[in-house]
Amino acid sequence: MKIESLIRENIRNLAPYSTARDEYSGNLGIYLDANENPFDSGINRYPDPHQRSLKERLAQIKGVSPSMIFTGNGSDEAIDLMFRIFCTPSVDEAISIAPTYGMYKVAAAINDVKLVEVALDEDFALSAAKILEAVTAQTKLVFLCSPNNPSGNLLSGSDIERVLREFHGIVVLDEAYIDFAAQGSSFLSKIVDYENLVVLQTLSKAWGMAGIRLGLAFASELIISTMNRVKYPYNINVLTNRVALENLYSIDSQLTVIVSERERLRQEFSKFDFIKTVFPSDANFLLIKVEEPRKLYDRLIDRGVIVRDRSRIAGCEGCLRVTVGTPEENSKLLEILGDYQ
Ligand code: PMP
Repeated sequence: MKIESLIRENIRNLAPYSTARDEYSGNLGIYLDANENPFDSGINRYPDPHQRSLKERLAQIKGVSPSMIFTGNGSDEAIDLMFRIFCTPSVDEAISIAPTYGMYKVAAAINDVKLVEVALDEDFALSAAKILEAVTAQTKLVFLCSPNNPSGNLLSGSDIERVLREFHGIVVLDEAYIDFAAQGSSFLSKIVDYENLVVLQTLSKAWGMAGIRLGLAFASELIISTMNRVKYPYNINVLTNRVALENLYSIDSQLTVIVSERERLRQEFSKFDFIKTVFPSDANFLLIKVEEPRKLYDRLIDRGVIVRDRSRIAGCEGCLRVTVGTPEENSKLLEILGDYQ
């Protein structure tokens, strides 16, 4: 497969972004090149457009070369870039599973790309055959999400690999919730095997930094260098960069608590007879099926607990999605549910 030929022609010929500062290797320069205010406030300078120190740190953590890492304003930026790089508006198509994260559809609509949704099976399992059947000559992207939002389950690895092998376009595998799943579930190490694989991750979930907006994409050098040419030069601001570097250490202790709380909630939820199904989850949320979702949702809001009503999404009829909170928050939720009916 020639990835180069999948990239829209106008983008293939863009020059890589560079600044005059790239030509100076010291750090005590007198910077008169960017029309900044010279008085030091900690934020008077533009950020590094190449995000070098951040990518080096991420490379150490993830065991991936910095040249195979893209950092964006949330993974939502990377999702949008996929359409802008690979899809000609009003001509090309993309495929996503359904139900899944809503942003693929929004980004497709914004970029005037037809998104074909392929329903997951009853138990939210992925069927590679169904995805491949939906592929047309115009299909440039397939979005998979594992663990999937809002269902919570990991998708079958062998089906993902089959799509990677048999679809001659880009497979975007969104692993926003991968840190909550069993170790070894990530496809990150496979970016060296599949040149059409883009793995998305984020600091918004397990890393606890949703507020700074930092999403990651991992892929071949060709795809990453193309994303770097298309992104806005200063997409990661100085504060995001600083806070990420200060906080990119261990997440293990919080992860352990969240995963054990997920299991506690799963067990406790199953004891309530108004909760018909608690779907298996490899993420930091649980999808539950109830008889009157809106009634329960409203009752929870009345008591100050905000969950997500997913009951109007095809495949999620009757379902609410509940994020795992702190142990205290979860106990309070269970207490409120105990009062319900
Ligand atoms: N992917 C999935 C599956 C998500 O659920 C979310 C956020 N809810 C995102 C991506 C967006 O993450 P970010 O905060 O990095 O934009």
